[in-house]
Amino acid sequence: MKIKKSSFILTAAIAVLLIAAVSFSGCLDFGHDHDDCSDHDHGDPNAAYDPLDDESIDSVLNGSKILVAASVIPQTEFIEKVGGSRVIAISMIPPGAGHNFDPSPRQLEDLSKARLYMQLGSGEPFERNHMRTFTQLNPNMTVINSSEGITLIGSGRSADPHIWTSPRCAIVMVENTYRGLAAVDPANASYYRANADAYIAELESLDAELTDMLSGMSSRNFMVYHPAWGYFARDYNLNQIAIEVDGKEPSPRDIVRFINIAKENNISVIFVQEQVSVTGATAIAEGFGGSVYVIDPLAKNYIENMRYVGQVLAEKMA
Ligand SMILES: [Zn+2]
Repeated sequence: MKIKKSSFILTAAIAVLLIAAVSFSGCLDFGHDHDDCSDHDHGDPNAAYDPLDDESIDSVLNGSKILVAASVIPQTEFIEKVGGSRVIAISMIPPGAGHNFDPSPRQLEDLSKARLYMQLGSGEPFERNHMRTFTQLNPNMTVINSSEGITLIGSGRSADPHIWTSPRCAIVMVENTYRGLAAVDPANASYYRANADAYIAELESLDAELTDMLSGMSSRNFMVYHPAWGYFARDYNLNQIAIEVDGKEPSPRDIVRFINIAKENNISVIFVQEQVSVTGATAIAEGFGGSVYVIDPLAKNYIENMRYVGQVLAEKMA
């Protein structure tokens, strides 16, 4: 009886907060590329959240596991690497969804059980739109800023939110993940410390590998559809040129302009994401004889994914 009553209150609370979230989210400002409400933001409108199964919910409710929420999929990899068998990680932005994704009632129900939220803290539009709802829904949830210790590109509302695409930033994010888990579960801090150290060692060797791989190239420039690779470019002395113009497909005039930019800058590679239209990118690549590669900045297998990105750049820009 007691359980039914509290779940009714939770459902009612979610309904109220969803209405509030819808009225607060959306086009609050048009300050930069990542904040417009275009469908062309790298969002898949059919992106699906995989809800917690009954077994996971039981293990969270009985205290045998800690539910940790985050904003993007690569963070769930970091959380699982540090938290090991102690944690279940969920990403509030599901695979394929973009910065302007709105969480479903089922996601909020799962979130209401989280003990910790690893916030990107890098001006991510999704967090600007929804963090207040999350903390109102789950006031006991500890919120940790993953960006603490990272020098952001831009600041405030115009900051580049994609901190996770640089392994050097990922090392800091993993350190912050350790800090969060140790805060909510101090009894297991040494377990988390050992896991974090092991994963940081892997990230450091990835960083060394990428630094070496990307050092001797004649061109430092690459094109991307959605500018998700700013931190990667900064940390390996590269330059990303974004084709996406204010979250929209390039116009025929833009295509001509980008073909010329590609020729002038000795560009051979365009990165696109599976979820977005590749029409404009393909037209541009055909115009200068370059190649289009599908790269997902939100892939779960972080180390393999970053290594692949480095290999494509090193091979094509040599
Ligand atoms: Zn993005």
